[in-house]
Amino acid sequence: MDNSAAGEHSGKNRIRRVVIAGGGTAGWVAAAALSTKLGELLDITLVESDAIGTVGVGEATIPPLRTFHHLLGIDEQAFMRATQATAKLGIAFENWGREGERYIHSFGKTGTSAWMCDFHHFWLRGKEMGFDSEFGEFCVEHQAAEAGRFATGPKSPLNFAYHLDATRYAAFLRTISEKHGVTRVEGKICDVRQNAHSGDIESLLLEGGEEIAGDLFIDCSGFRGLLIEKALGSGFEDWTHWLPSDSAVPLQTRATGPAMPYTRSIAESAGWRWRIPLQERVGNGLVYSSQYLSDEDATALLLERVDGEPLTDPRVIRFTTGRRKAAWKNNCIALGLASGFIEPLESTSIHLIVTGIVRLMQLFPFTGVESSLQEEYNRQTRVEMEDIRDFIVLHYHVNQREGDAFWDHCRQMAIPDSLAQRIELFRERAHAYQNNDELFRVDSWVQVMLGQGLQPESCHPVTQMMTRQEMQQLQTGLRARVAQSVNALPEHHAFIRQYCHAGDPV
Ligand code: FAD
Repeated sequence: MDNSAAGEHSGKNRIRRVVIAGGGTAGWVAAAALSTKLGELLDITLVESDAIGTVGVGEATIPPLRTFHHLLGIDEQAFMRATQATAKLGIAFENWGREGERYIHSFGKTGTSAWMCDFHHFWLRGKEMGFDSEFGEFCVEHQAAEAGRFATGPKSPLNFAYHLDATRYAAFLRTISEKHGVTRVEGKICDVRQNAHSGDIESLLLEGGEEIAGDLFIDCSGFRGLLIEKALGSGFEDWTHWLPSDSAVPLQTRATGPAMPYTRSIAESAGWRWRIPLQERVGNGLVYSSQYLSDEDATALLLERVDGEPLTDPRVIRFTTGRRKAAWKNNCIALGLASGFIEPLESTSIHLIVTGIVRLMQLFPFTGVESSLQEEYNRQTRVEMEDIRDFIVLHYHVNQREGDAFWDHCRQMAIPDSLAQRIELFRERAHAYQNNDELFRVDSWVQVMLGQGLQPESCHPVTQMMTRQEMQQLQTGLRARVAQSVNALPEHHAFIRQYCHAGDPV
């Protein structure tokens, strides 16, 4: 590019000063992404307050985070070492259908692909023929999770994500961001100054008197929504009638044994409990509805259930499930908890931060905020969140835990039409589908629908063309292939230790 072209470009670049309000996972993900990818075009400042701190949870992730890390050039070993990360191949759901039942929603592909219908149709037909195989027998990630085996690298067949320490992750991303020129300001934002005419944010005022001016503001202030809601009044679409949990108590404990490569999600009488194994400690927590369980009883239940020495004090976090009506309003974009919260059940929040910042970079308003960019950003954000919402509501709604008031309510509550239609289609004909760009694939929908106890009445008629012997051959062949892949994998805990700490002084 010659100098005149560069000059012309920078002249048009009206949005240059980006101010990020908040330094939790959302703030530092945004800072790391913007600075590594667009740093030369922007001046980025992040304001955070140590006194306020972060929400301190959010430790289970999903596989697309690896693509994001790849985009940023993050070294996996360095990242895993810095964040005490372990591998996650899926989530084990315990007691969700009925007490005593268990299924795994793994990140893998189950069985083999066929263009007319997915593998689960053939598996269902096998059941009709009398084959009593489990659906998860045909998925490498599922079996590797159960066996506690894992490897990463080009030869690994696994689709996986991480369990990570949220505080360390923010610190890790901060180092990257500062290396790429992000200025961090410590201080408490006490006022948001807006243009009297347009309402656009002009600057943030800190308690010490410092004023931070910007062209574009990213609200990563957490549930407070300091900019997007308190200043700009975006509005909130409340989803409590579909997702009734409104509270959580997190608690960290010392690890009592080798980490398994999956998250545990255990249904309790008025919500569910998570168990996220890191290298040296375990993240635990109870998510519940305060309408059905008091904070005292929730805390007592959690303390009774955890299996290691507590390392933190339990504390209650209150939230409202739903989404900010406009994630982008005026010259402010909300990311993370400031933009809404679905529920941590399928570990989608950090993912939504990543897709939010990637979307912003794709639609970045270099020449000034335009309504077309804003509307498209908000449309994509809404569709993405609604699809995830439906998937989460499915877990709650299709349950057979009769007699627990909370679960009875979830079973009987009205659900979004979009989800009702999906359930109907699966129940009648075993059909499942993935909307355009939808995060959760057919594999995910099928594992959860079957796992929650939704039994299809029929499957695709094409499966009737298969003989008993062909079915036998298909299942035996697939099972052998899965077993071969799993047996070739090392033990998860040993692999992680070696991968993260090879070369450490003894
Ligand atoms: P926060 O962590 O709250 O950060 C807010 C930032 O803003 C802080 O730095 C704070 O200091 C700053 N701030 C606020 N007010 C001011 C002010 N006035 N002045 C200056 N600074 C200010 N997500 C997942 O992906 N996986 C999970 O397993 C998962 N589990 C979760 C479990 C629970 C119970 C909850 C509640 C959430 C969970 N999440 C999970 C969501 C995840 O925690 C968040 O998406 C993630 O941590 C991002 O939070 P945040 O950065 O938006 O907000």
